[in-house]
Amino acid sequence: MAETSTKAEYVVGVDLGGTKIYSGIFDNSLEYVGTAKVSTKAQRGTDAVIERIARCVQDAVDESDLSLKQLRGIGVGAPGAVDAEAGSVIFAPNLGWRDKPRHVVGIFVGTGIGGGLVLNGEPYRGANHTGGEIGHMVIDVDGPKCSCGNKGCFEALASRTAIFQQIKTAVKNGQKTLLTEMLGNDLEDLRSGDLRKAIRRGDKFVEKVVEEAAEYTGIAVANLVNLLNPEIVVLGGGVIEALADEMMAIIVEMARDCILSGTSKDVQIIASTLGDNAGITGGAVLAKRLTK
Ligand SMILES: [Zn+2]
Repeated sequence: MAETSTKAEYVVGVDLGGTKIYSGIFDNSLEYVGTAKVSTKAQRGTDAVIERIARCVQDAVDESDLSLKQLRGIGVGAPGAVDAEAGSVIFAPNLGWRDKPRHVVGIFVGTGIGGGLVLNGEPYRGANHTGGEIGHMVIDVDGPKCSCGNKGCFEALASRTAIFQQIKTAVKNGQKTLLTEMLGNDLEDLRSGDLRKAIRRGDKFVEKVVEEAAEYTGIAVANLVNLLNPEIVVLGGGVIEALADEMMAIIVEMARDCILSGTSKDVQIIASTLGDNAGITGGAVLAKRLTK
């Protein structure tokens, strides 16, 4: 790579989440050189959020001691229907499988549940580029109502929003939990990490709620494995990151129980090692592919 620093040789990955916008600048070999984070403030509307994305990118550029003209592309991973394009490549680069045909399923459990599919080494997008809505697979037809209007979607059962909702409702109905001791009765500042703390301090109620979410996630993994026969399923997002020790073993066990014999028993089911950088890395990979 004999490129000089005056060339536009950097790409930007943006992880547009329901709570925060995170952007990262990556060099040609997809090593990240700088990042920035701002809150999303989705309630201010689309234009305001777009402005905040731009500011976040500018901050990351500044943080990296670069200028905007040194950027050649931006890839944005966003929640909702447009997730398919960016979400599908989020996890690929840390596998070192870039040159091989590969089948990968990514599941990201956060505010909602996002996902992406890489089939034959290519991001799968579907007819209208909205494929890979893993979070809206119906897991329990009698389950709670989902934001999409259906009942019992994976996201309505196992996302952070669903887990928090369940805990808050139970507390309102008199359930005792260490969480209220830690955070007060309204649980306003509840975070995924608090669930881990409560479980480690012996809170059986929180443990049960998280276990159930892990079981639903295991069922979702099994459905995807039975359908797609991937080599690997990667789980990431804030909930998995905060609760990997509590959830991964249950997810894997439940998935293995439900995966059909003979099809994909040797599938790897692992937690993402990219952590918070998964979204921005995916965006950068996308930007790199599109500007080749
Ligand atoms: Zn749904």
